[in-house]
Amino acid sequence: MTRVDLHTHSTVSDGSFSPEEVVRMAAEVGLSAVSLTDHDNIGGVEAALKAGKREGIQVVPGVEISAEFPHGTCHILGYFFDLGDKTFREKLAYLQEARANRNPKIAEKLRALGIDITYEEVREIAGSEQVGRPHFARVLMDKGVVKDFNEAFERYLGKDKAAYVDKFRYSPDEAFQMIRRAGGVPVLAHPYTLNLSDEALTDSIESWVPLGLQGMEVFYPDHTEEMIDCYSRIADSFGLVKTGGSDFHGNNKEGSTLGDCGPLGCPPLDVLDRLRWRLS
Ligand SMILES: [Zn+2]
Ligand SMILES: [Zn+2]
Repeated sequence: MTRVDLHTHSTVSDGSFSPEEVVRMAAEVGLSAVSLTDHDNIGGVEAALKAGKREGIQVVPGVEISAEFPHGTCHILGYFFDLGDKTFREKLAYLQEARANRNPKIAEKLRALGIDITYEEVREIAGSEQVGRPHFARVLMDKGVVKDFNEAFERYLGKDKAAYVDKFRYSPDEAFQMIRRAGGVPVLAHPYTLNLSDEALTDSIESWVPLGLQGMEVFYPDHTEEMIDCYSRIADSFGLVKTGGSDFHGNNKEGSTLGDCGPLGCPPLDVLDRLRWRLS
């Protein structure tokens, strides 16, 4: 069976491999298609598309936009948008700026907690990568402040934890619209991070479908079979495309393996046709 992984990160956001490397590895593990979905950034897509031609694997232009959501993390994936769309690029640039402004503040908060850390150290470990929270986690591990990534996020870096710093986000509605206006297809990423009951999730989806939501990431490493079952039913009841991905970050996130989309595996290749039908 030919499978696709529609959720991966490169050094353009907080992954540890370059866009070219991610695509080459996707071809090596036997995927038929892969989408690079860096956080608020499409800077790696062109390189990924070129690598796809070289490696003989289909590459889907992608992005993962962080949207405002009161009680949880709301990430919206966008696929097949027009890479040259100026408004789309400007809106993403604004988010990247917000992201960059937040990093020195995280370092300040950690220092205020008595941890000996500077932003320079974090920048150094990130190298050419865009600095993100996984880099802070690595420094905290290297310094022996925490034993692993999970502890770093649980104690310090996760939402509302001790060194968490909020940043500007668009509303889900704005995220759907900016993707639609750039000719793309918006998909809700890993629904469990919204922290909603099944009923509340259904209500949110119901309000988002008229605003342009076209799909839901049903297949995901952190989803149990029961969750996949539940999300499939919700997606089917609203006619949403059921997508999936590994959320591969290379060495920057434990437990993410390229081509591993959870207990029921990655979605089949024809999910791309279903996404393309939503373009018009
Ligand atoms: Zn995400
Ligand atoms: Zn992701």
